[in-house]
Amino acid sequence: MMALMSFSSKVLSPDTKIHVRDREEGHASSSSRPGVRTLTDDKSMISKRQTQLQQHVDSLQLCRKCPKMQSRPVSGGPVLSRVMLVGQAPGSKEPVFGRPFAWTAGKAMFQWFEQELGVTETEFRRTVYMAAVCRCFPGRNSQGGDRVPSRQEVALCSEWLRAEIAILRPGLVIAVGKLAIGRFLDVSPVLTQVVGQIFRVEKFGRSFDVVPLPHPSGASPWHRIEPGKTLTKTALASIRNHRAWITRF
Ligand code: SF4
Repeated sequence: MMALMSFSSKVLSPDTKIHVRDREEGHASSSSRPGVRTLTDDKSMISKRQTQLQQHVDSLQLCRKCPKMQSRPVSGGPVLSRVMLVGQAPGSKEPVFGRPFAWTAGKAMFQWFEQELGVTETEFRRTVYMAAVCRCFPGRNSQGGDRVPSRQEVALCSEWLRAEIAILRPGLVIAVGKLAIGRFLDVSPVLTQVVGQIFRVEKFGRSFDVVPLPHPSGASPWHRIEPGKTLTKTALASIRNHRAWITRF
């Protein structure tokens, strides 16, 4: 616990007590009664944000800022949700299928979600905004695995993440894999210390909860053996019980 509290980021607390803000907090009402928001106000606000998000995704798909990336950006589409899933970077298959987590790691991850959250892959994709630390396939490293994106690529792609967080104002971010967890906690995470906990984080100008998950790829057995197996289950339970998850869409 002490180690977690000493993170250099703006992680506020690794606890399980959750404060959830109102969906449209901080926005003025057009109602004639000050402070009273009408259904029409809500609908118009949602429609405006949906348009913003669509424009954002359209721009993202045109991004070519990183010359070493080996594909075009992969997007999960403009899903206006209170929950974001942030992965690491797509593999070689995702650009072919045109969606994140489209191959073996995705199969394992959606199986977790089906078993522990009670949602099918289709339902998850329809109700959760899916992002990543980097949106393009980085190519292979000299050992034949996927290249880890450079710091510069991560920094460049963070501008997309920042814009998404500004538009979506998520209550919950599910960070999948060490690169994604580290992006929010600003440390190189030790999975046994972070999986199974909820972190209140201030990042990209907003405050939200982060639930770390291990990467579901077959490359690491961490989530299949103890204590990883139990910690992963605990993390999934904390998503299932999170208010932003319950009211996500
Ligand atoms: S990794 Fe991100 S910043 Fe780099 S080209 Fe792809 S979308 Fe653009």
